[in-house]
Amino acid sequence: MNAPFPDPSGCVSGPDIVNGLSVDVEDWFQVGAFENVIARGEWESIATRVEDNVARVIDLFAEADVRATFFTLGWVAQRHPAMIRRIVEAGHEIASHGYDHARVFTFTPRQFAGDIRKAREIIEDCSGVAVTGYRAPSFSIDHRTPWAFAELAEQGYAYSSSVAPVAHDHYGWPEAPRFAFRPLAWSGMIEIPVTTALIGGRRLAAGGGGFFRVLPYAFSRWAIRQVNRDEARPAVFYFHPWEVDPGQPRMAHAPLRSRLRHYTGLDRMAGKLRALVQEFRWGRMDLVARREAVRAQDLILPGCAAGVDAGAAA
Ligand SMILES: [Zn+2]
Repeated sequence: MNAPFPDPSGCVSGPDIVNGLSVDVEDWFQVGAFENVIARGEWESIATRVEDNVARVIDLFAEADVRATFFTLGWVAQRHPAMIRRIVEAGHEIASHGYDHARVFTFTPRQFAGDIRKAREIIEDCSGVAVTGYRAPSFSIDHRTPWAFAELAEQGYAYSSSVAPVAHDHYGWPEAPRFAFRPLAWSGMIEIPVTTALIGGRRLAAGGGGFFRVLPYAFSRWAIRQVNRDEARPAVFYFHPWEVDPGQPRMAHAPLRSRLRHYTGLDRMAGKLRALVQEFRWGRMDLVARREAVRAQDLILPGCAAGVDAGAAA
């Protein structure tokens, strides 16, 4: 399966490049693909699997001695505070994935400000450490919601990793930069988009999620090498705890397309992740953010230049 992806042997990531490794911590029933099948109000009554799955992920990272960032829902942190402490005790960064996975473009700026404040307060109470990173549910900061950056900066976030700079049926902002940028004139906060690779000038999603599970590992290896070696930039990779859980309940009533996306390759996921974390150099997103801050391009977005008030009026 290696044939379509050039795979010259040799160095992997350069010695100086640390790629960003991230986990979006949500339970198996909270994913966007099932939002029309499982109502938000039913969550309380569904058997949780997130603690066991996060424990598996922590063990997998420990085997390879890597640290990562766990972007966690406030809703999950509220119900699993001991899990949050275990993540922090293992040396990982705890960060915010919003409160209950509502996507940014469903909020007004004021509602969004409330959501990220609530999530951060819960996670900080559980963990005892400051939260400085944010990832939007389903990479939902896009051309509709540039004001979100102003709200994040106003609340003291150092970085966001909430943009998928690619065209996709559920998300994406194909015009956004592929690497770190500074969206605000008045703040040093940076956005670090999830990784894309270039093939013939086209951008392909290459930072994880369903693509990593469905495509051969050789594609991810090729893509991350391209980014590290040819572009000399860090990759940003993400996955979910439920992706290492082949035994999770099957949602028979979900659309076929959603089921294919959600369940394909679950049994091979842990093995692929082991290969990935051992082959490349990885670190927490806050480390990647500090390193990328000096290289981030300024991209002052309309509605952001004058700060929060302009954002709120947008
Ligand atoms: Zn998510």
